[in-house]
Amino acid sequence: MRDIQNIVILTGAGVSAESGIDTFRDAGGLWEQHRVEDVATPEAFARDPDLVLRFYDMRREAIQTKEPNAAHRALAKLDAEWSGGLLIVTQNVDDLHERAGAKRLIHMHGEHLNAWCTVCDMRMPWIGPLLDRPACPGCGAPGSLRPDIVWFGEMPYRMDEIYDALGSADLFVSIGTSGAVYPAAGFVREARAAGARTIELNMEPSQGSYWFDEARHGPATRLVPAWVDAMLDQA
Ligand code: NAD
Repeated sequence: MRDIQNIVILTGAGVSAESGIDTFRDAGGLWEQHRVEDVATPEAFARDPDLVLRFYDMRREAIQTKEPNAAHRALAKLDAEWSGGLLIVTQNVDDLHERAGAKRLIHMHGEHLNAWCTVCDMRMPWIGPLLDRPACPGCGAPGSLRPDIVWFGEMPYRMDEIYDALGSADLFVSIGTSGAVYPAAGFVREARAAGARTIELNMEPSQGSYWFDEARHGPATRLVPAWVDAMLDQA
């Protein structure tokens, strides 16, 4: 095995599950008789903006009552102490990685605590509701703000930086993700093509389990701190 300098970590909803934030599957897939996928698209927003804004207002409010868990804290420790390259790419739209202290972090699917003005293109921190159609603080346009969330069918953020990091990764670690949502589900293959070792830490085998050199199954709050301690011990 080659020396490990550059690490890319992909996280998904499973890393926040033990903080009390439902994963996609745990959410039951249904919200007020709508499939979650059906409220997370630009078409749904155009068709019924109140429904979509209410869905996201509830989630924005809920995540502010949650706390980072041992897995978020362990990844923040690795970020602080790993002297080589490191990038945490999260599919999560909660802010628990950064509240735990992670710095080298990309939110590829956006953030619950941001709003995006569709008139002036400004993105801004946002903790309150959007359902009441507040004016954009930047340009003043009424009713122009939407959640800064990458919906199904939209392009995830900062993909060039992510693919650059995958291209020079020595180790790729996927944590708490089902491997069902692309392009994130394809990162393991990008990393393998670059010669990286690949590890999966998940409650159960993911849909892409086949692509990993090694898999450990169990709760993130147990698996992630143990893996981080081992990485820092050997560094
Ligand atoms: P997912 O719900 O499809 O899969 C979650 C995975 O985590 C499953 O494989 C499950 O077995 C595993 N898991 C559940 N509890 C775990 C635990 N305690 N420890 C370790 N693993 C655990 O989620 P996904 O793969 O992230 O993809 C779904 C999409 O939903 C993403 O685009 C994401 O943006 C979005 N989402 C985000 C949040 C959040 O921000 N916290 C929550 C739900 C969904």
